[in-house]
Amino acid sequence: MASLFGHSVVGFTISNVIKTKKAKWLVVFAIFSAILPDLDVLSFGFGIPYEHPFGHRGFSHSILFAVLWAIFILFTVGKTDKLLWFFVVFMSTLSHGILDAMTSGGRGVGFFIPFNNDRFFFPFRQIKVSPIGIEDFFSNWGVQVIISEIKYIVIPCIILLSMRLLILKLERL
Ligand SMILES: [Zn+2]
Repeated sequence: MASLFGHSVVGFTISNVIKTKKAKWLVVFAIFSAILPDLDVLSFGFGIPYEHPFGHRGFSHSILFAVLWAIFILFTVGKTDKLLWFFVVFMSTLSHGILDAMTSGGRGVGFFIPFNNDRFFFPFRQIKVSPIGIEDFFSNWGVQVIISEIKYIVIPCIILLSMRLLILKLERL
């Protein structure tokens, strides 16, 4: 995974770039959805191997999971602006696998599970893979993760958010 911080920043950015008015809960759900796929680390506790379709970076990181989760949210939480909720939750959930597929370690991401169990990486893999344990995070490794995420996640997100703000300002002129 990228770190929970990195995933959250992307969820926050996606919801803020797409939404048109104040939608506090949409932002909260977007951030949660961007982190959600990593609950699959619990699978290690059940003895499910990494490469299994339900292992880490498996089904919960797939495109189908993002669709199903977005549909579930649309019917349970998205009372108004259903299409907006669907789209933001889908994009935020899928962004998780996309970020993971740009990390430097672990196995690839099972984007097409259950139709194809292969794991994928993108050719661009500059985001340092984040340690799963907290101890490892407060180490040199953790520092490298943060630096790589600032460069490849935080700065691009700030640019996107600024552009969005600018467009909103110009529209009001
Ligand atoms: Zn992940």
